[in-house]
Amino acid sequence: MSERRIRIAVFTRDLRVNDNPVLAAAANADRTIPVFVQDPTIEAVFGNEHRQQFLDAGLADLDRSLRELGAGLVVRRGDPVTEIGRLAERFDVESVHIAADVSGHARSRERRLERALAAQRRRLVVHEAAITVHPVGDITPTGSDHFSVFGPYFRRWQEQLRRPLIDVPERIELPDGLGAASVPRGRPAHAWPGGESAARERANAWFADGLATYHDVHDDLAADKTSKLSPYLHLGNLSPVELVTRAAERPTAGSEAFIRQLAWRDFHHQVLAARPGAAWNDYRNHDDRWNDPGSLLDAWRAGQTGYPLVDAGMRQLSRTGWMHNRARLVTGSFLTKTLYLDWRHGARHFLGNLVDGDLANNNLNWQWVAGTGTDTRPNRVLNPLRQGERFDKDANYVRRWLPELSGIADARDAREPWRLPADRRRTVKYTEPVVDLAAGRQQFLISRGGGR
Ligand SMILES: Cc1cc2nc3c(=O)[nH]c(=O)nc-3n(C[C@H](O)[C@H](O)[C@H](O)COP(=O)(O)OP(=O)(O)OC[C@H]3O[C@@H](n4cnc5c(N)ncnc54)[C@H](O)[C@@H]3O)c2cc1C
Repeated sequence: MSERRIRIAVFTRDLRVNDNPVLAAAANADRTIPVFVQDPTIEAVFGNEHRQQFLDAGLADLDRSLRELGAGLVVRRGDPVTEIGRLAERFDVESVHIAADVSGHARSRERRLERALAAQRRRLVVHEAAITVHPVGDITPTGSDHFSVFGPYFRRWQEQLRRPLIDVPERIELPDGLGAASVPRGRPAHAWPGGESAARERANAWFADGLATYHDVHDDLAADKTSKLSPYLHLGNLSPVELVTRAAERPTAGSEAFIRQLAWRDFHHQVLAARPGAAWNDYRNHDDRWNDPGSLLDAWRAGQTGYPLVDAGMRQLSRTGWMHNRARLVTGSFLTKTLYLDWRHGARHFLGNLVDGDLANNNLNWQWVAGTGTDTRPNRVLNPLRQGERFDKDANYVRRWLPELSGIADARDAREPWRLPADRRRTVKYTEPVVDLAAGRQQFLISRGGGR
């Protein structure tokens, strides 16, 4: 061992200096190597332009913060295990620190890294509660390794003590002979300025102006008044522990509802940690025989189904890399329960396009919507007309995303353009519905043996 104690902080989905257990532990040494490894196998699944820009901006911001502390971010590209193993050997490091994560890929990376480091007689330290609020394996019911129902999980989640917040390290120094790489500067991605600094600004604005009314407005599609923090949470530009701690300091109906949503995030993470296969396999199999995708899937992806609320959501996604939660529920239900197409088509499309695409949150929400997941009412169908009536009453959401309908003054006509007289419909030029809603559900009833 060298005389100086050197530690590595491996950044993964914890790209921040505030409240970061990995960085804090690795900084408690004479020298520290903060490293991010660009992993081509992850990029192959998640590599869309919105995300790439958002990630690049996050890395650039992290580099700036680390430089202010005296170091900078070391960036490598390739297999993380090989790259970290190389750095560890070259600098004779004492220990390597990384956040506990939940996907099959992350878990296998952790196991491989542990073995590679053990062969060099070095230690891997895995830090819990960096990516989730509570350590994922900590909250379990009797006789199982995870909760499959949110209600009882949430009660235990609320009772569990949170770890205290962790300070930004005072100073970090790189070992001699190692320079921080030049990090690609992210171009601004639509409405999504990436990185921890932007994330903290957004969170501050949210606590000041959004949180108090969240419970009232979070489902209003046109108002669009949710926190928009999910992309930052996905990359760990914000700490979920810090968000919950800050929200809990302002006990209102708004903060309670917000904390509950953050608990949903932990819930899906603990399911995926216990069942990594549930990313792509039915969590609960009902022997669904999905329809062949064909042109219906294309119409859904393109926002051309003829159902305004579904199409508005899908076009918001393709234009901005974002979709309101209520629209995610409606478009998901339409794909799986009305068109009766396999949820995996939808999950893949979302992951490829969302700026907040997250394997646990995306795929397990898809399964929830499809009725193959943890929903205690797997047969629920969200009718896009009724959902429009409730959550887009004035039709401003559909008018915003569907220029064809923007000139229709009457809200109900905009939500249900087939009600317009035939001559007016010709001028509106909006797609005819691809499926008769009632017939679609009948078809579904038959293929599922009348279970609904
Ligand atoms: C089909 C489908 C796919 C989804 N895909 C993703 C995804 O890829 N990534 C993602 O982060 N969320 C996903 N969600 C969950 C939810 O839609 C988003 O987290 C939310 O819309 C993000 O907006 P926000 O940050 O303004 O949320 P807010 O309403 O402000 O909520 C605060 C935070 O709570 C968490 N949260 C909120 N709702 C949920 C939920 N239902 N499940 C888990 N966590 C939640 C998020 O981290 C969110 O940032 C999906 C939902 C559905 C129905």
